[in-house]
Amino acid sequence: MPELPEVETTRRGIEPWLVGRRIEALTVREWRLRWRVPRGLPARIGGARVESVGRRAKYLLIGTDAGTLIWHLGMSGSLRVLDAASPPLAHDHVDLVLDSGKCLRFNDPRRFGCLLFTAEEPARHRLLRGLAVEPLSDAFTGDALWRRARGRRASIKAFIMDSRTVAGVGNIYASEALFRAGIRPGLAAGRVSRARMDALVKSIREVLTEAIGAGGTTLRDYVDASGMPGYFRQRLFVYERTGKPCRRCRTPVRQFTQGARSTYWCPRCQR
Ligand SMILES: [Zn+2]
Repeated sequence: MPELPEVETTRRGIEPWLVGRRIEALTVREWRLRWRVPRGLPARIGGARVESVGRRAKYLLIGTDAGTLIWHLGMSGSLRVLDAASPPLAHDHVDLVLDSGKCLRFNDPRRFGCLLFTAEEPARHRLLRGLAVEPLSDAFTGDALWRRARGRRASIKAFIMDSRTVAGVGNIYASEALFRAGIRPGLAAGRVSRARMDALVKSIREVLTEAIGAGGTTLRDYVDASGMPGYFRQRLFVYERTGKPCRRCRTPVRQFTQGARSTYWCPRCQR
């Protein structure tokens, strides 16, 4: 599943191709995504000029002078910039055709992604208004996290993956950040010290920033906006490394299941 770094990598990849361009057409080949593409959207967005390409959590926000497209990649979606004339392949559901002769093409085999629209302030849209703080923003601090965790019995890993705590920290990045901060993933959130929360916030920022710099993590068939895979996977310390030696202390990495998700950790480095 594309996680926050992959979405940010996509945003950076597509931004220079879109900003300042006029939208010639929105071609929808498959309307039934996670939610139906609004029927009137092609007429609404055709002729509009793109002013910005933003991101909130894992939503891409394409701002135009007619309103904002809200695009989510879902479980298996990807966006690529191609020549508008290149023939669509299977699962190429939507093209945003630009006046440059290029198009932004959305491919999504599982169709859990979505394309919606708002003419109002995007932050007030029903999908966005309840989102917690961005992990790379200044508002995400160890102190705020520590205060929020008071009395919480949920594991620290579940706590930081909860979208009500912080937006867009998925399984890979939660596992890696907890390793770097030396925190056992199963520890109750309310028992993590203030100092450890500072370390955890720093680690979350680090892993996300490094992953963005590396173009996201290669996840099966994930490709970024230019079609290149990310290389962050080679830098993972624990994620999907069960039984392999910890890159720091050589102790075999362990795995257990929390909820429906696998958690990876080093029993020596994370106490
Ligand atoms: Zn270790």
